[in-house]
Amino acid sequence: MTTDVLIIGGGVIGLATAIELKLRSHCVTIIVRDSNSGASYAAAGMLAPEAEQIPSGAMLELCLLSRRQYVDWTSKIEHLSGLSTGYWECGILAPVYEQDSRNNAQWLDKQAISKHQPNLSADVVGGWWYPEDGQVDNRALTNALRASAIALGVIIQDGVTVKNFIYQQNRVTGVCTTNNEVIEAEHYVLATGAWSQELLPIPVHPKKGQMLSVRVTDKELPLKQVLFGSDVYIVPRADGRIIIGATMENVGFTPYNTPAGMQLLLQRAIHLYPQLQNYPIEEFWWGFRPATPDELPILGTSPYANLTLATGHYRNGILLAPATANLIADTINNKTSALLEHFHYSRFYS
Ligand SMILES: Cc1cc2nc3c(=O)[nH]c(=O)nc-3n(C[C@H](O)[C@H](O)[C@H](O)COP(=O)(O)OP(=O)(O)OC[C@H]3O[C@@H](n4cnc5c(N)ncnc54)[C@H](O)[C@@H]3O)c2cc1C
Repeated sequence: MTTDVLIIGGGVIGLATAIELKLRSHCVTIIVRDSNSGASYAAAGMLAPEAEQIPSGAMLELCLLSRRQYVDWTSKIEHLSGLSTGYWECGILAPVYEQDSRNNAQWLDKQAISKHQPNLSADVVGGWWYPEDGQVDNRALTNALRASAIALGVIIQDGVTVKNFIYQQNRVTGVCTTNNEVIEAEHYVLATGAWSQELLPIPVHPKKGQMLSVRVTDKELPLKQVLFGSDVYIVPRADGRIIIGATMENVGFTPYNTPAGMQLLLQRAIHLYPQLQNYPIEEFWWGFRPATPDELPILGTSPYANLTLATGHYRNGILLAPATANLIADTINNKTSALLEHFHYSRFYS
């Protein structure tokens, strides 16, 4: 089987890149082991470059670029798929128990914050308001991206694992799959998230995050924005779910939720927003962030002339999907970007 561009990985990064390439007239195939086990399914969907306090520099520039693209990008995806992405410009509120100093946000004192968001913990002394940060429903987004890709004619091979690349000199000539098939393409994109080291010796390792959700039983949503605490975040969805996350664990690919992880999240979330304790628990889950040693993604060209890297998005891959897709499609079309140079794999090997 041959294809113009072969993308390995079907999370938001692989799917968004496939759509962008297809819209630029490439013939695209995606190979994906398991759509629902990736970080894109597990995430909280915050679009939070400011609340995350990403220091100024290339990463903040990339994150702000992507956040600006979100409105048009999600409306394009919704139009192509006929599905909602749950994109919501709700703003992010960062309540604190001790005042700190930040120069990227508006400070709300105790009185102002309780007006802005009633029923926060009595220990909250104030907080920071980030009106331009927001959220997307990452599961709805993933479904909409998938439906858009299929509608455009992207071929998706589900339940198939790439076992290895086949190389000739400095080019990839094919991939071997668990179907005992060799698939050839002009160009290859590695978008395998936390599992990237299985195929290429690049420094991406899993950082596990446990999460849970409760469901609001009141008619009206009690939260109208994301709460970004110092040790927990609480993300209200328009459909009545409230997502609570997340642990940060270096335990490799150890699966499952643990009592300790759940206790930690519930304790912190109930402290920040006490009325959560009364809502029914809906779901527990976990996922693996694709982390790199400097916590920046690995984007752009690789040691192989026809292999492009789009991995290592760590805590911000949902946010970075539109900008990544555009920049990776540019790279494949030989358009260089000064911004991408900051994310080149070679920074780890100088
Ligand atoms: C708990 C948690 C909370 C998060 N919250 C946020 C947030 O609020 N905001 C934000 O922006 N980001 C968040 N993130 C980070 C974000 O989810 C990731 O950065 C992003 O989803 C990475 O997308 P991806 O497509 O690269 O990887 P994934 O979504 O992990 O997809 C990788 C895909 O590759 C496939 N694959 C792997 N190896 C192979 C192979 N050999 N052959 C075939 N297929 C293969 C997998 O099956 C998977 O489908 C969070 C992550 C976690 C875990």
